[in-house]
Parts: sequence; structure tokens; C-alpha cells
Amino acid sequence: MTTLEIYDTTLRDGTQQEGISLTAGDKLAISQLLDELGVAYVEGGWPGANPKDDEFFQRARRELDFTTATLVAFGSTRRAGRNAASDAQLAALIAAETEVICLVGKSWDYHVEHALRTDQQEAVAMIGDSVEYLRSVDRRVFFDAEHFFDGYRTNPEFALDTLRAAHESGAERLVLCDTNGGTLPHEVDRVVREVAAALPEAALGCHFHNDAGTAVANSLTAATAGIMQIQGCINGYGERTGNADLCSVIPNVSLKMGYASIPEDRLSHLTRVSHHIAEIINLTLDDHLPYVGVSAFTHKAGLHTSALARRPDAYEHLPPDAVGNSTRTVVSELAGRSTILAKAQDTGLELSSEEAQVVVDRIKELEHDGYHFEAADGSFELLVRESQGWKQPFFSLESYRVFVEHRDGEVVAEATVKVYVGGERIVTTREGDGPVAAIDLALRAALAHDYPQVARIHLTDYRVRDLDSSDGTAARVRVLCQHRDVDGSWGTIGVHQNIIDASWRAVCDGIVVGLIRANGASNGGNSNGSGGLQSE
Ligand SMILES: [Zn+2]
Repeated sequence: MTTLEIYDTTLRDGTQQEGISLTAGDKLAISQLLDELGVAYVEGGWPGANPKDDEFFQRARRELDFTTATLVAFGSTRRAGRNAASDAQLAALIAAETEVICLVGKSWDYHVEHALRTDQQEAVAMIGDSVEYLRSVDRRVFFDAEHFFDGYRTNPEFALDTLRAAHESGAERLVLCDTNGGTLPHEVDRVVREVAAALPEAALGCHFHNDAGTAVANSLTAATAGIMQIQGCINGYGERTGNADLCSVIPNVSLKMGYASIPEDRLSHLTRVSHHIAEIINLTLDDHLPYVGVSAFTHKAGLHTSALARRPDAYEHLPPDAVGNSTRTVVSELAGRSTILAKAQDTGLELSSEEAQVVVDRIKELEHDGYHFEAADGSFELLVRESQGWKQPFFSLESYRVFVEHRDGEVVAEATVKVYVGGERIVTTREGDGPVAAIDLALRAALAHDYPQVARIHLTDYRVRDLDSSDGTAARVRVLCQHRDVDGSWGTIGVHQNIIDASWRAVCDGIVVGLIRANGASNGGNSNGSGGLQSE
């Protein structure tokens, strides 16, 4: 089996994406997750370029405990007209004390002329000298040939000369970078084969950006054309349209193309690692990402789902558990009993076919009122439980009230919640930026003593929609909330003529589902004793 090295650059190239800013602590946490996933190389950052990366490499030496990965420091070759041994950038790379250094150098003559403002001979010498110097202090060196595909298009001799200089000076990998991301798979195939023929002894790698929407396809093509290392980012993070998404690259090469990449038993960690890193990065993950997205194995139509229950392989390109994801069924009024049964099973609940019919009828009623369960799997779960006679045991509401005050140019919302928790009446008041935040905070405060797990439940998304009034009654408002904990996320819904009450319903459902999950009751609906849950 041919091995393809997986080289992750989420911490360096991935953080070029707008909206991403990581602390050294975040980077350490992500590094550890990448090692759990089993990638070969983790590029930690650019020492000497910013203080955060220097702190990261310092702490990495003490705090990281890698089992499969090797940490890499990234930086550029010596400056034009300088000596490698006295170059500050190379000194910072050495000071990072990593086993491997990835050096980036320019392979496009256009950039040599306009960015470096030097001649081609010096550009080649900058690469050769720098690699040689780092080798002389016992570093393993990879060479990232920046703008290689654009350079090869306009001046293949020069582009190859830069690779040759790195190779002859002792670089272990020559990585062909599509820095502007515009290259297509058929060009990749031709160029990689030509480079491999010109440098038969060299070990090649690839680094694609997704500007033409083909970064993953290009990486796979480069693999079949003979490279042995693929660089990319988890969840396709990266500037502009992102880098090659390793969450697609890894399962494609491992499960469909017969390469060895990460250790086989780690593939089932892919979805978890992808979601956990998204959480640290604090960007909502696209539900529609291949392999790891929440919707990657989601089915909707009624007919389709009954067939799916019998023959999953008829509708899924591979078993979702191979990458740690799972089949999901969404509920809509089109759904028949089979969808409801399958969906209930997803949440670990068994329904008899009569109970399923009760749920189908109830959903039809609620959808008539403006409910919509496709994005509200959490509220759906509660509906199924209630159809079996279950009542949420965490609290019961006596009343709530919210007011909004405009005071000295600022708007403050204040909510008071009165609930019974374990027989005790609790009254809490909290302020928030808006009425929903205030209600959410007040309810959490009321529950915090008996259910400290509420602290792990986060409200991550809140959406409101006005529903048309078709029958002359007052228009209703639909609120959709998304909550999450470390293990996943769930949607809830509330519909009412009053936006506050619609919000209250969605927020309450979200917290109740979170407490069920925190109490380990989502499988089978049985209590483990810690939360006083009952199942009928
Ligand atoms: Zn890049």
C-alpha cells in the first residue's frame, strides 16, 4: 500500500482566513487534536513573524505530547543579498527547535522580479543556501515552492531550477504550491508528471488553494500523478476560498483510493476532530461539508427513508460511521411513519408503530400552526418522548416576565424567571443585551444549583421569522435556536404570536435537551440516576 503523508497547515495557512484568530493556547489544543487524528505533520506557525507563534513554539516543547505527528516550523528563505548564517528569519526558525522546518521560496519568475526585486540566479541561491544552512544545524527541511504552478506555466526552467536547488541542498520534500489556487486537475496531472520525470529522485508534495473549487480534486490528482505528501487544512480553512480540505482529502485517499494516510483506526475520529476544531476556532461549521457536515448523511423524503432503513448502501456513498458521522433523518410533513421511526431511532428512542402514528398526527397539527421540525431535531426529540408520556423533570414554570428599558442612551433587557426545581421555588433576575439573552441567563441561573451541567450548554444561533397570517388571525413568529455542548448541537423551535414567548419555548426546549444529553439519557431515554429522569 502506498503511503501519503498528511501535512496539516490549519495553524498557519488556515488562520489566514478572515475571522480566525487563535491564541497560543488554542493552537496547542488544536495540535493535540490533529495528533489524535493521526496526521504526519502539524505546521505550528511562523516563528519570528508574530509573538503568538513564538509563544506557541516555546510552550509546544513543554506541553505537547505527540504520538504520531511531527511539529513543523514554517518560514521563508534568507533575504536577498544576505548571508544565511546571519539571517534573522532563519535564526528564528532554528530557535523554534522543531525537528522539521518548512521553508517557502519563490518559484515564479514574475514574483522574483516584482516582489523580491532580485535576479533569478540570486533567487535560486537564496533557496539553496537556506536549505543547506538548516541542514548543517541538523534540521530536516521541506521546501514549499510558492506559486509553483503559475511559475511553471510561464517559465518552467526557472521553476524547476528552484526545486533542483532545494533538492540538491538536502530538502526532503519538494512541495508544489498552487498559491493563487486557480489550477485545474488536468493541468495538475500534467505538471506533476513532468516534474517527477525531471527530478526522479525527489519526493514531491502538493499544497492547493480552493479558488477554482478544485483544491481537493487537485490533491487527489497529484496523488495519482506521484506526489507523496498532501498539505491542507481541517474543514478547508484558509484565506479567500480556503485550502484543500483535509476532512475530504483523508477519507477520499484512504477509503476510495487505497492509500495509507492516517492510521486506519483514527478515521472514525474525523467528524469529532473536525467539529471540535471548529468550536475552538469559533466558526459555525458548514452543515453541508462532505463527510463531516451535519447534513453529509441526511435524508428527507418519506419513501427514500423507508428504503434507507432496509438498504442504507442504496442511498449513501459509504457507511457514515467510517468517518465518525451518522445517518440523520429530517422530519417534515411529507414524512410518513417510517421517517418518524427512523428519526426516533437516531435519537435512541424506540417507538411502536402506533406511537409513531401519534407523532405523525401531532407533527401535522403543529406544522399547520407554523412549526417546522427539519431544523429542530431537539424539539422533535421532546415531542417523541412526550408521545410516550414523558414529562421533562428538570423544572416547572410558574411565570416569567421581561422588560426592556432605554436608559441613558443604552438599551437593557431584564428578565425574571420563577420556577420550581426539585420542589423548591426559585426566583432569579438577570440582565442581558436583549430580552432573549436575559431570559436565557435567568433560566440558567435558576437551574445552576441543581443542574450545574447547564454551564456546558451554549446558545449558538437564534433566528426569527414572521409567518404570514392566512386566516385573518394575528401573524405568528417562528423562532429557531441552535444549542450545543462539547458532543454536538441540536435545534429547537418555538411559535407564538408574541416573539418573547416563541423565544422562551425554543430556549426552554434547548436547555431541556441539553440536560437530557448531559445526563446521558439520550440513548433509550433512561436515567442514569443523576438527573432524576424518568422514561415510561
Ligand atoms: Zn498556502
